[in-house]
Amino acid sequence: MKQATTEPGRVPYAMTIDGKRVESAQTGIAINPATEQEICRFPMASRDDLEAAVAAARAAFPAWAATAIEERQRAVSALGDIIERNYEAFVRLLCTEQGKSRAAAEWEIGGSVYWCREVAKQRLDDEAVDVDSDDAVVTRYTPIGVVGGITPWNFPLLLAIWKIAPALIAGNTMVLKPSPYTPLCTLWFGELAQDVLPPGVLNIVSGGNELGQWLTEHPHVGKIAFTGSTATGKKVMQSAAGNLKRLTLELGGNDAAIVLPDVDPRKIAKDLFWASFANSAQFCVACKRLYIHEEIYDEVAEALVAYARNVRMGEWSGAGVELGPLQNRMQYDKVRELLDDSRVQGHKFLLGGDVPDRPGYFIPVTLIDNPPEDARCVTEEAFGPVLPLLKWRDIDDVVERANRSNYGLAASVWSRDTDLAQRIAARLETGTVWINQVHVFSPHVAFGGHKQSGLGIENSLHGLAEYANLQTIRRKPLAA
Ligand code: NAD
Repeated sequence: MKQATTEPGRVPYAMTIDGKRVESAQTGIAINPATEQEICRFPMASRDDLEAAVAAARAAFPAWAATAIEERQRAVSALGDIIERNYEAFVRLLCTEQGKSRAAAEWEIGGSVYWCREVAKQRLDDEAVDVDSDDAVVTRYTPIGVVGGITPWNFPLLLAIWKIAPALIAGNTMVLKPSPYTPLCTLWFGELAQDVLPPGVLNIVSGGNELGQWLTEHPHVGKIAFTGSTATGKKVMQSAAGNLKRLTLELGGNDAAIVLPDVDPRKIAKDLFWASFANSAQFCVACKRLYIHEEIYDEVAEALVAYARNVRMGEWSGAGVELGPLQNRMQYDKVRELLDDSRVQGHKFLLGGDVPDRPGYFIPVTLIDNPPEDARCVTEEAFGPVLPLLKWRDIDDVVERANRSNYGLAASVWSRDTDLAQRIAARLETGTVWINQVHVFSPHVAFGGHKQSGLGIENSLHGLAEYANLQTIRRKPLAA
């Protein structure tokens, strides 16, 4: 059994192709976002590496697809055991490469274990269809072949598992590319996974954006499962057209939370804070527009400011740290620029706004007081800890404002009157609406975006079915 020998700074991380460790002449640098120091170097795949990975996945496909479902389920469940055995090392590595707090990293690593085990209970059985004749009709779920997985930097391991587990259960083999900002947990997981998977079933290649493009264009890849920004998702869709790849795209969001006047501002402040700022707001489903009823606006704003003042931001190993930095310089510069825009527009900051001069990509929690609905901090996905608080009076109006977005990922409604909240929820144009909660996911509950937040579904049997082609076989006896 491989041990946690690839902790930061100890052993170089390698790609896994056809069951073997593969290094590369070209390397990238993994940076600790809390210190801006180098953690280590990692491989940047060449085109030949990608060809080798796709060839290995292709060669492994027939045998893996023919493996009994129970065996594939055992293997995917064992992937969860592998993560669990190395839990502490994964948590530390994730904190170091992503910048997360310890609690956030535990959520992700614990979730990765849970997802492997729960998805391993799922299967897609043949369905007999009743038709109005003597024909016997069966609909089958057949694996697609080689699936390409592409993941972002906010939840690097969990979002990889969301793709790997169903892809393998459905009988596909895989080539997965993590974000160049956070490749380490995924590379290490890929290596450990070889203990329970035949060579070539799961290949992990690391590299830049061009590697993602090579993967999405590759004629021998039958499907792409992508999580990332809407802009990149559109490019993926274009380059996948060559061989009509199947696509699952989980993209950006600009989620609204609607707070009704019957809530207790002091009691709800904590939930609203974490709805917006968990993972330092680098969360596709973070609340990014907080619509508060005018009757309680001031009290909620005050309670949020009071709660936020006591949340400590820093490097994960610091005492009491609950929020980390942004993950990379590109995102840090983007959020700073958004703050500058708000300042120039004369928005009022209830908290934050000034970025400290210190190492690390730290942006303080910033609350903006009722900016105009067309302000950039309202219409754009900040993907950083900057939250506009917005007043509303009329339900029809707030529903219209919440829906006034090209995004449609998720939303939340907060009220004692859960029936009313549900009626509002039903009018929101998003893939998920939470009532008096947020960020509750399950391997058995469908998750996906409406509008430009995505295409297709992850999780649940709907998500699993996206890793299969439907095949109908219809037979009748030969006429005598
Ligand atoms: P990104 O789109 O910049 O990158 C995502 C991945 O795509 C990376 O691995 C990147 O290397 C790769 N990539 C870049 N260009 C490519 C190309 N031309 N072809 C193929 N692959 C390419 O996204 P990011 O900045 O890493 O992540 C943040 C975004 O992800 C946010 O918009 C966030 O909302 C979204 N996100 C969505 C979900 C969801 O489930 N809907 C979950 C997490 C993050």
